[in-house]
Amino acid sequence: MKRKGYFKLIVLIFLFVTTVLILATFGIFRLPKGEVVGSKSQLEQSATKTSAQITAKESSAQKTESQESSLGVLLEQVENVENKCITKMETSGISPSNSTETNNIASNTKSNSNTKWELGKLYTSLPTKELKVLLTIDDGPGIYTDEILDFLKSYNIKAIFFGSSDTVKKYPETLKRQYEEGHEIGTHTYCHRSFYKLQKTASIDEMKRTLLSDLDKTERNIKDILPEVKIRFLRMSEGYYRDWVGEIAKKYGYVNMNWSAAGGWLEEPDEKVIKMFKSAIRPGMIILLHDGRNRGKRALKILKELVPYVLSKRYTFADPKEFF
Ligand SMILES: [Zn+2]
Repeated sequence: MKRKGYFKLIVLIFLFVTTVLILATFGIFRLPKGEVVGSKSQLEQSATKTSAQITAKESSAQKTESQESSLGVLLEQVENVENKCITKMETSGISPSNSTETNNIASNTKSNSNTKWELGKLYTSLPTKELKVLLTIDDGPGIYTDEILDFLKSYNIKAIFFGSSDTVKKYPETLKRQYEEGHEIGTHTYCHRSFYKLQKTASIDEMKRTLLSDLDKTERNIKDILPEVKIRFLRMSEGYYRDWVGEIAKKYGYVNMNWSAAGGWLEEPDEKVIKMFKSAIRPGMIILLHDGRNRGKRALKILKELVPYVLSKRYTFADPKEFF
């Protein structure tokens, strides 16, 4: 009986071992391992996917943030349209066409058969084919304006000063002097606002309202100092022009004036700029120089070389009044 019991035990052990071996052979035990690997793989894929989704979500969130930011800027800009400048251009010698060539010499040769200024019309040269040039000086007054005025007086040259409406208040005596010495006081709009930038977000109606408001403010600032002045010339910041600008200018009684020669001379060496101006001389040329801060020093240097040269070529400096 005892031996029979041992035999049964051995058979059971044998069956157990055999069963284990059979199961192992058919990979039954590996299945769970495979599943785990598969699961891990799926998890990894899933994790990657989740990561990608998160990245996409983040990207989407960033996009939304950026869109909101743009919207915020847009709203702020629209809100500010009537109130204050949203842009300030520090380098205003840029030609409106933005091309390198015309940056130096504007190619506008609109038919100037009429030898009188037409209100609202845009000029980049004088309404004459005579050997005359016109001097215009933007963005002043500044600390060098008096020296510029002394120099112009010594040659009896009359210019148009398109001052900065923000800074005229700081130099009331200089503004008065400009006027009293026979120069024209032009409007350069208010705080040098860039309508090129504004038009990216604002409607034409908003831009029109802004320009009207800017022109009013500028007229007020200038007339606070010179109540008797009649402003007759408009130079938009960066030479911005659209037909609606011309219409508004006409209503205000302004001649719209850009220039023939200016260029990105703020970055160029003095000698190169002077050479450029000399080579750009032609009948009716409108010269643009910049005053304000230390720019006036450079304007003075250019004038001291350019004026004698222009005169030596039998040209004269036109008085802007002579075309009214
Ligand atoms: Zn300017």
